[in-house]
Amino acid sequence: MKTVITNVRAILTAPAGIGLCVVKVETSEPGLYGVGCATFTQRLGPVKSAVDDHLRPLLVGREVDRIEDIWHLCYQNSYWRNSPVLNNAISGVDEALWDINGKRANMPVYQLLGGKCREGVAVYRHADGRDAQEVLDNVLKLKEQGIAYVRCQLGGYGGIGRQPRRPEGSQHGAYFDPDVYALTVPKMFEYIRSKLGYDIPLLHDVHERIAPIEAVRLAKSLEPYRLFFLEDALAPEDVDWFARIREQAAVPLAMGELFTHPLEWRSLIVNHLIDFIRVHISDIGGITPARKLAALCEAFGVRTAFHGPGDVSPVGHAANVHLDLAVQNFGIQEFSGFPDPLPEVFPGCPDLRNGYLYANDKPGLGIDIDEKSAARYPVGDFGRPIEWTQSRWPDGTIARP
Ligand code: MG
Repeated sequence: MKTVITNVRAILTAPAGIGLCVVKVETSEPGLYGVGCATFTQRLGPVKSAVDDHLRPLLVGREVDRIEDIWHLCYQNSYWRNSPVLNNAISGVDEALWDINGKRANMPVYQLLGGKCREGVAVYRHADGRDAQEVLDNVLKLKEQGIAYVRCQLGGYGGIGRQPRRPEGSQHGAYFDPDVYALTVPKMFEYIRSKLGYDIPLLHDVHERIAPIEAVRLAKSLEPYRLFFLEDALAPEDVDWFARIREQAAVPLAMGELFTHPLEWRSLIVNHLIDFIRVHISDIGGITPARKLAALCEAFGVRTAFHGPGDVSPVGHAANVHLDLAVQNFGIQEFSGFPDPLPEVFPGCPDLRNGYLYANDKPGLGIDIDEKSAARYPVGDFGRPIEWTQSRWPDGTIARP
């Protein structure tokens, strides 16, 4: 008898204070279901609606083993494609179907993807501080915990040091100064390298905070500090400028956490303009497009560095790890930890030991959601305006966060 989808639904929960969206796909086989990450934490409501109101009626009754066909069905069904809302909704279904088919085959998903290329995946973690000394102290703490790769940032994403002189009547917002940012970051790395030497690989995230020509200048000035990579030096709207950075600085470049459309990454990869692709897997539509993207990258010498902040659910982190284990051109995995009570709500979280993340070897993604436990951590008013993305430059102009 064929195994078909009987229900598709989005579950919202915020166990660690960040709103998460996980999709559960139930099947006609008793006890068989799968889970997938659909977390677009800034817009939880529209993703939930896309899943419950649109994908559920489209998918109930379809065979669970047609992952590829179902992915394209969902992708084409809205006629207008892409966008983080639609891609996250599709990702929830897609990852759940990989989970279901792993369980049916009695294999972990990494096995379905071709098997392990490595036993554990190296992670980087984030160290920040108000000054270079505090950043250094936090790097050393992470090193003691066995973390081998550390991303260094001054005060969150930087540029907050100088009290901005604003025009009268300026709007409320999260102010930062791109000049302060660009001047302080090289000094921070100079200090950290002078104390630490070059044994530990360091990374940095520009978070698209500066003008393109400043990104060129920053990359050049960071060259002596031998970064593992420089992350999101440009906004997706400015990617043509990567060629300028390439001409002038031998700094490995990572790009793509905001990408949602294949045209955003294609020319960067085939023209050797980046070194690491760091898309957010649920934002591009799940495991199915991510494994193809990894294969495209492999052909052009680009490695993976999938986005892994706290607004990826543990289910999404598990999907990251299964892909990381199975793709030859894995580079590094961003990891933000599983603070309590995440492991209680999501039994089967990947395990971090001595700087490496390990998947458990259970069939499927090896992770579940305890819905009773998840219900104890409601997302609350998820429509309230988000503050940190209301960024402004010193003169009050709204800026990219
Ligand atoms: Mg980033």
